[in-house]
Amino acid sequence: MRRNHHEFRGPHCPYCGSEARLVDSSLIYGRSYGMAWVCGNYPRCDAYVGCHKGTDKPLGRLADSRLRAAKKRAHAVFDPLWQDAHHLYEPLPEGKEGRRAVRRIHKTARTRAYAWLAHQIGVAGDACHIGEFDLEQCEATVRLCQEVTPDDIRAWHKEKKETA
Ligand SMILES: [Zn+2]
Repeated sequence: MRRNHHEFRGPHCPYCGSEARLVDSSLIYGRSYGMAWVCGNYPRCDAYVGCHKGTDKPLGRLADSRLRAAKKRAHAVFDPLWQDAHHLYEPLPEGKEGRRAVRRIHKTARTRAYAWLAHQIGVAGDACHIGEFDLEQCEATVRLCQEVTPDDIRAWHKEKKETA
């Protein structure tokens, strides 16, 4: 059996079905933040997604302006849940050591916050990223995150570990 050479193919637009094309993001933003996948019907269909830094790997699904706004709102309530987590561990050492501790805390807290969110929303933990969310999941994220603090997430994780 012959196998086709695997070639990276771009995502399809979930709104109009057109094949996305890889462009420099300056086409969208006026200045470049790396590459982006835009709908083949862009700008008539206003759906696009950026790429992981320095790659042509999309950051999530193509999003239209409504979904992009919803993702922004979701990030605005979700991100502080891990970005503020280092306050739980204060006082931290000064200088370089302290900055390293903050980075480590953020990394752990972010993983926990996503595990918590995945559990709440009912998606698999490793598939849980706001970049992959649809409109409903973004709205659920906003609702859920408004009701908790970084301390609640830490407590949730601790309880889960103890009952596991
Ligand atoms: Zn489209």
